[in-house]
Amino acid sequence: MLLKIDLHVHTDRSPDGCSSIIEVAEAAKRKGLQGLAITDHDLPLTESDALRLSSELGLLVMPGVELSTPAGHLIILNPKREFGGLSLRDVAKAACSDGSTVIIPHPMDPLSHGIGFSEASSLIPYSPLIETINASTLSRYNSRAKEFASRNSLPMVGGSDAHLADAVGDAFTVVDSPSCDMTSVICSISAGKTIPSGKRTSAVTAAKTVCTRLIRRMRR
Ligand SMILES: [Zn+2]
Ligand SMILES: [Zn+2]
Repeated sequence: MLLKIDLHVHTDRSPDGCSSIIEVAEAAKRKGLQGLAITDHDLPLTESDALRLSSELGLLVMPGVELSTPAGHLIILNPKREFGGLSLRDVAKAACSDGSTVIIPHPMDPLSHGIGFSEASSLIPYSPLIETINASTLSRYNSRAKEFASRNSLPMVGGSDAHLADAVGDAFTVVDSPSCDMTSVICSISAGKTIPSGKRTSAVTAAKTVCTRLIRRMRR
């Protein structure tokens, strides 16, 4: 079956996130997605929490984290440990040995802490998937990511990088999975049975995200 899953979503567990897990899950359902991965900054969502949330929210909620390494951002799908203090390559190596999945988000976008061509090349031994459609990134950076993935025969994924529920599902990944249970879906993603899809988040939603973030900061 083909499942639409947004593999890059932030909630208010991230310092710059504006919406709760319930709000992003409801938005995903409204937009016809079957699932989403919670990839908050440096705060993993564990597999057990993801399974509980999936059952409570009636949607596949996948465990993940977006790590801020000294070299830039890296998403780990289904993280099995804390990665604090590790270098980019050590994170990828540890995740790979744990059986987790490495996704390189917005790799060619220097404004969003993309790791760039050289570091992305160094992660090829860890079987990364490349985010070639990030709804929050300029199209030229997505194009460069696609060129990199194509040249190195690496699987491609899409994600919204939403920090507000309105942006969830603007980009997503079509996953070809034998079933919709979490283990099957993660295996299918790791095997590269993925097609990125979607568009850039609108200027209106981007502006709303910035305003909501400012209001949240002033209330703290
Ligand atoms: Zn990022
Ligand atoms: Zn992100």
